[in-house]
Order: sequence, then structure tokens, then C-alpha cells
Amino acid sequence: MRLRCKTCGVEFPTNVSLDREVFEDERLEDIFTGRSHTCPSGHTNQYERRDYLFERSEPESLNRAER
Ligand SMILES: [Zn+2]
Repeated sequence: MRLRCKTCGVEFPTNVSLDREVFEDERLEDIFTGRSHTCPSGHTNQYERRDYLFERSEPESLNRAER
């Protein structure tokens, strides 16, 4: 799953990996509470469940071949 940094807005992958079924189970709210993550630029913020983004199904283009 991915997060969007609350400081700089960049999306970055987390080590959190859940099935959508689990993600949408409201009884599991607690596992998301108070988790902090650090974006690639070094901003550490706490995130809640609604902040997590599922991976898009399409692969991320690396954007380096066409410079
Ligand atoms: Zn950031």
C-alpha cells in the first residue's frame, strides 16, 4: 500500500501490505492508528487508515529512459 506524504505530497510505498478485504474491515481500525511513516524525502508523519492508498494495478513507469 502507498501513502501520500502529508508534508510534500509525494506518493511512496510502505511496508504495509493488506488485502482489500482486510483493509475495509472496520474492526481493524486499530492496526492503522498511530502508525508513522517516513517519505523518501525524510518527512515523518502519522497516518490513519483513510490516508492509505492501494497500489494501482498498472505498473509504475520509471520515467528515466526518455530524458
Ligand atoms: Zn515528504
